[in-house]
Amino acid sequence: MIKENLLKIAATVHAPARLIAVSKTKPVEMLQEAYEAGQRLFGENHALEMRDKHEVLPKDIEWHLIGHLQTNKVKYVAPFVAMIHSVDSLHLLETIEKEAAKNNRVIDCLLQFHIATEETKFGLDKEEACALLDSEEYRAMKHVRICGVMGMATNTYDYDLVRREFANLRDIFNKLKERYFADNENFREISMGMSHDYKIALEEGATLVRVGSLIFGARNYSNL
Ligand SMILES: *Cc1c(COP(=O)(O)O)cnc(C)c1O
Repeated sequence: MIKENLLKIAATVHAPARLIAVSKTKPVEMLQEAYEAGQRLFGENHALEMRDKHEVLPKDIEWHLIGHLQTNKVKYVAPFVAMIHSVDSLHLLETIEKEAAKNNRVIDCLLQFHIATEETKFGLDKEEACALLDSEEYRAMKHVRICGVMGMATNTYDYDLVRREFANLRDIFNKLKERYFADNENFREISMGMSHDYKIALEEGATLVRVGSLIFGARNYSNL
């Protein structure tokens, strides 16, 4: 079923947009099956789980860290992670900078924004993002590359609200692009959309959609 699910979704994601298969909590056998169906971008939300899967799976996989990241866990993914979507503080970015330097590499990052009406979702607002981007600490960094923005919409069947939240994230992207990254072609990613709303996200300009349960089946949260 994984291959079938993947191919059906992949057919709706057109370049330059890309599909991230969110494989958190799923066993490596299922990731291997997706890999064999051609999938190369995988998303995980726990650093240690991602490190363990990276160790046993093919090395041409692009690993995307999409969940809230504690600074003391950055070191586990710094050697290989393709992109960290969940940068929500200067402090976290400073840790990524330090760990990336130790590994002699540059780590691609997205700034996570709080776009949902729910209180529980992590993320910056526009003022906090500007303060981060204006800071001397950020400007001195040589081992992180901010490539765009990430957000999660409210978990609701009110798809008009979801659409407005995605449009808001696109608007934030455009404003940051104009103010800070006008000549920087690396700043081009809008990571938004999950299983139940990725089609709306694509319509609103997503370049990375993060789809899990629609590919791998529902997660059993009692195992978390
Ligand atoms: C789990 C998760 C997803 C995927 O969720 P599904 O509803 O299974 O598609 C996407 N983004 C983030 C940040 C997640 O934690």
